[in-house]
Amino acid sequence: MEVRLVAVTPNPEQTIARAYGICTGRDAIPLEAISKWAERGHLSPIEHATATFEISGISRACSHQLVRHRVASYSQESQRYVDMSDPQFVVPAQIASDPKAVKIWRRTVDRLRTAYRELRELGIRKEDARFLLPNATTTRIVMTANFREFLHMFSLRISPAAQWEIREVCVQMLELLYPIAPNIFGSARQELGAQYPSLLRGKV
Ligand SMILES: Cc1cc2nc3c(=O)[nH]c(=O)nc-3n(C[C@H](O)[C@H](O)[C@H](O)COP(=O)(O)OP(=O)(O)OC[C@H]3O[C@@H](n4cnc5c(N)ncnc54)[C@H](O)[C@@H]3O)c2cc1C
Repeated sequence: MEVRLVAVTPNPEQTIARAYGICTGRDAIPLEAISKWAERGHLSPIEHATATFEISGISRACSHQLVRHRVASYSQESQRYVDMSDPQFVVPAQIASDPKAVKIWRRTVDRLRTAYRELRELGIRKEDARFLLPNATTTRIVMTANFREFLHMFSLRISPAAQWEIREVCVQMLELLYPIAPNIFGSARQELGAQYPSLLRGKV
């Protein structure tokens, strides 16, 4: 998996501090005061900064979970337009570590790959042949959201209740956003670090 930050609002914390300032009759609040205001539930100023990520090499299972976050915008590689005769697959660690499971996995994806190619050779359109592709098929997706939505997404998806793959995506996004806006993402990082210890050890 690769998670790249491709665009972000310039001076995001200053933009947000200015928005809080407008609300409270000043030029701007101090950057260190942002988290205090946010903790009170005054969250709309945090929506004035956005970030765009390009995420590749995740499974379609994971991208389906990602796009459930409706407040973000997405553009995803299309299986209608892109030929998938040579698809890549994400193999879950639990399967990869069990030789018997790996055997079943390989046999199945090899059959599906071959069947996709055979359908294409028969003249079946990509948009119909793709019905054979499994959730494991990798995809690329561009995602843009505001910082409030990222905070919300991280709280749901870095939680131990979330699945390992989307957790990893969100941890990587958080690690890319934190240095740019430590006053916005610092407390979330600290809190979520208890649930995903490698986050705070800088091992992600
Ligand atoms: C552990 C876990 C298990 C899950 N399991 C399932 C499952 O089995 N089946 C399934 O279908 N989904 C499942 N989901 C997806 C989940 O139900 C949400 O659709 C997904 O997490 C997006 O969250 P959200 O709606 O809060 O976020 P967003 O869509 O990003 O919305 C952000 C916030 O905006 C507000 N909002 C957005 N749209 C509306 C609206 N229409 N009405 C009112 N408020 C709105 C809400 O406050 C919301 O929290 C699961 C999620 C998690 C984290």
